[in-house]
Amino acid sequence: MYQVLARKWRPANFDELVGQKHVSRTLTNAIESKRLAHAYVFAGLRGTGKTSVARILAKCLNCETGPTASPCNKCDACTEIAASRAMDVMEIDAASRTKVEQTRELLELVSYAPVRDRYKILIIDEAHMLSKQSFNALLKTLEEPPPNVIFVLATTELGKLLPTILSRCQVFEFRRIGTRDMVEHLRRVCDAEKIEISDSGLERIARAGEGSVRDSLSILERVLAFCGQQVADDDLLQLLGGVRAEVLVQWLKGLAARDAGAMLQVLDELIDEGHDLLPFWNELIACTRDLLLMRAVPRGEKLLSRSPEEAAALQSATEKLGVEDLTRTFQILADLEFGLRSSSQPRFLFETALIRLASLGTVKPIEDVLQSLTGATPPSRPAMSAAPTPRPRRAPASGASRPVQKKNLAATGSPVAGLIEAVRDAKPMIGAILEQAQDILLDGQALVIAFEKENELVADRLRTPETVELLRRTAEKIMGGPVNIRIESSNGVKTAAKEPQPAESTRLDTPHGARSGPNELLEQARNEPGVKKLLREFGAQVVDIRPLELNAPEPATDVEDPL
Ligand SMILES: [Zn+2]
Repeated sequence: MYQVLARKWRPANFDELVGQKHVSRTLTNAIESKRLAHAYVFAGLRGTGKTSVARILAKCLNCETGPTASPCNKCDACTEIAASRAMDVMEIDAASRTKVEQTRELLELVSYAPVRDRYKILIIDEAHMLSKQSFNALLKTLEEPPPNVIFVLATTELGKLLPTILSRCQVFEFRRIGTRDMVEHLRRVCDAEKIEISDSGLERIARAGEGSVRDSLSILERVLAFCGQQVADDDLLQLLGGVRAEVLVQWLKGLAARDAGAMLQVLDELIDEGHDLLPFWNELIACTRDLLLMRAVPRGEKLLSRSPEEAAALQSATEKLGVEDLTRTFQILADLEFGLRSSSQPRFLFETALIRLASLGTVKPIEDVLQSLTGATPPSRPAMSAAPTPRPRRAPASGASRPVQKKNLAATGSPVAGLIEAVRDAKPMIGAILEQAQDILLDGQALVIAFEKENELVADRLRTPETVELLRRTAEKIMGGPVNIRIESSNGVKTAAKEPQPAESTRLDTPHGARSGPNELLEQARNEPGVKKLLREFGAQVVDIRPLELNAPEPATDVEDPL
């Protein structure tokens, strides 16, 4: 008698289960240590093994050689469970038995002792379909479970089970089967069934099965009905509506060259060959996602469901495109889905999207833009800056026991930025408070952290002994000598900071500098060539001007715009 593949290859024990190692391991341990729950919830996509595991569990518990994690699959209990005719293992589909009377009947049935085997096991498939009354009846039973009864609730929609039910069950979430696991499984099946098929063919089937073993096997079955035992790649593509890798490469080349004509031609040819638009769209978006992964993640090709050769071909067709380009491509394609599914003219939408893709300029990575900007401006920092200098990630290394040298502090770059950064690494909240300081300056050996009067409460948060200690230690590391911490919050410091610096104190750098300069200074800044380029390139605005104390402003030379 012919058996469909999905049934024939249903796993008979935990070893044969595809994926779901977390489930089989936990259940094996529970069986071996005799610590079983009264009720289990198996949740997950269809075809991920929920009912199979429920049956394996039933065999484990009722096998004549058991309870055991590896049932014999030969005894009466095992064979009857496999054939769904065991007296003590009841399997019901909640979708077809939603009436509360039926549930009550069933629950009464399970309350009797097992007929022959050790346990009575009730497997409720699609458990979320039970009516509210049925749930309540079930809940009552779960509150005082009869001895030797095990419930297994299988569901594709965990969210629809009542929390009161869930709290009385051990919940397992069944995961989508990864493409690699699926391909391995399909390969085992094909070898045993003497089916000849390429690896890329199996990958295609696995992708179409979307993580469901049952779906993947039924697709394989359809393929066999069409092709016989020898499956040619082209036949498979035709059957699954897939697109040959060469066609994808051709399309990607058009994308990389921003050539609308080339992309439209690929689309036109596919339609001529009788392809549907949606599978092609699927291929494009999957392939854009794969390219993004390869660009963004080191060794990202391991996450792909493509053969290395195919991945390399796709990648070399799109060398010119960066992560930003691919992200925008992905977005435009993703926006297309709804239209493709619902519009009466999906082809027009597809074509318009391709033209949009062609009209996108290639996005230049920001590093390149910055490079070209710095290449055009003199190496020394311009006198005025439109954007704040990026903070160094780490505090500068400490110089052994160098005494504090007032004059050199400002020259070491931005010790305050280093201080804030180091503090933020240790205590993010404290770092955030430091950033609100109006001024941070060195007065002799004292590091003065000044807040505006209205920030008194914020300043107080720095005054705890351990915070002061943290600040002191961090500051000493950066300054390379003993430092006292002084936290001030008064109007006095506010004015002092704006007036010419007293000889005693060395102004380091302020997180919040003067908010506005004289208008002429602003104008001068806007006309500075380097700043001009930044303003144009980023659509930026000059918001803040800070005088550099040590580096005298160098006249900037205007260099030919490289962009
Ligand atoms: Zn057995």
